[in-house]
Amino acid sequence: MNNNKLTTSSATVIAHAGSHPEDHYGFVNPPIYRGSTVVFPSVDCMQNGDQRYQYGRWNNPSTEALCEAISTLEGATGAVLCPSGLSACVTAILSVVGSGDHILVPDSVYAPTRHFLDTAGKRLGIQTTYYDPQIGAGISELFQSNTEAVFTESPGSHTFEIQDIPAIAKAAHAHGALVLLDNTWATPLYFKAIDHGVDLSIMAATKYIVGHSDALIGTIAASSRAWPQLKAYHFQSGTYVSPDDANLALRGLRTLDVRLERHQRSALCVAKWLEEQDQVSRVIYPGLPSHKNHSLWRRDFTGATGLLSFVTKSAPIEAVKALLDDLSLFGLGYSWGGFESLAMTVDPRKMRTTTTWEEEGHLIRLHIGLENAEDLIADLKLGFDRFDLICHQA
Ligand SMILES: *Cc1c(COP(=O)(O)O)cnc(C)c1O
Repeated sequence: MNNNKLTTSSATVIAHAGSHPEDHYGFVNPPIYRGSTVVFPSVDCMQNGDQRYQYGRWNNPSTEALCEAISTLEGATGAVLCPSGLSACVTAILSVVGSGDHILVPDSVYAPTRHFLDTAGKRLGIQTTYYDPQIGAGISELFQSNTEAVFTESPGSHTFEIQDIPAIAKAAHAHGALVLLDNTWATPLYFKAIDHGVDLSIMAATKYIVGHSDALIGTIAASSRAWPQLKAYHFQSGTYVSPDDANLALRGLRTLDVRLERHQRSALCVAKWLEEQDQVSRVIYPGLPSHKNHSLWRRDFTGATGLLSFVTKSAPIEAVKALLDDLSLFGLGYSWGGFESLAMTVDPRKMRTTTTWEEEGHLIRLHIGLENAEDLIADLKLGFDRFDLICHQA
């Protein structure tokens, strides 16, 4: 392949990044190299470490291809893989903070990331302060002399607050702290994390990168500032991803652009329809003009994906169960980012300590998959009929 540097869009980058057919007899995709041991031709070569691959845990052509593709797409200095999205969040955190250090974390953070910090993180001596995700430049007031990192997640899990990442990064860097972002929702296709000042861009690649609900994997891409620490800690901790899973993620990555386009189009269509329904008090989707941070989203993002939430009008929980239990196209399940639509109920009250959640109705999260949007709306419409039936009986 000709490696002359063209300036290319992300859609083009994902079709080619990390691809080296010349290394694999011309086959377009790297094969799945399974292996622990790699043999050396001589003691000298082994002692000098003078060989491209040396041990399966350190590097292998299948995992390397995915790392290279992610790093290129993110515009990063380097990238590492982790066995799950949560593992990527934890690995990124532990690469930058240790005993006695302080980290700032948004109150809207993915609940298992919070759980890590409140349990194992605390035991390791990491001090955490949860901040209002809407704080923006005001974050500068929360820095302590031992604040080493600011974690961000934009939009926030379930409640979709968009954070002012450039303002937060400016304040963090002025203080000598690094910025971490859980960029799972937007992916680098719709939010260029490193260009906006992020040092460690994290993705649960389980979601949109894999895209088919058949593997768990996490990625972390680093700015030049954070790469040495990330690379060292990842190596020290023995973090490893199987070549089979890396291969699934690389395969998913190649079609990310077209899938996200459809997720976005259908999600906007469903979101607009939901806004018109009597049973709905609020739809929370950054791509909607009614979203409280819509202008911030327009400034920094180039797209919205398929995950959104809505709040019902006050109703008995039985009405919500009637709505969701019998949907035929939406499954009830965790995770998202696959081709299939999903629904679940969430209670943000249980996941916050600094901010409050005042909505009276029930919060329902939907993942809009790759089905026809009209079909999804028809399924939801029948669900709202069941919802009404229970409300009228109550
Ligand atoms: C799902 C998710 C994760 C964790 O990913 P897993 O692969 O399930 O561990 C992390 N962050 C966000 C925002 C997620 O939605």
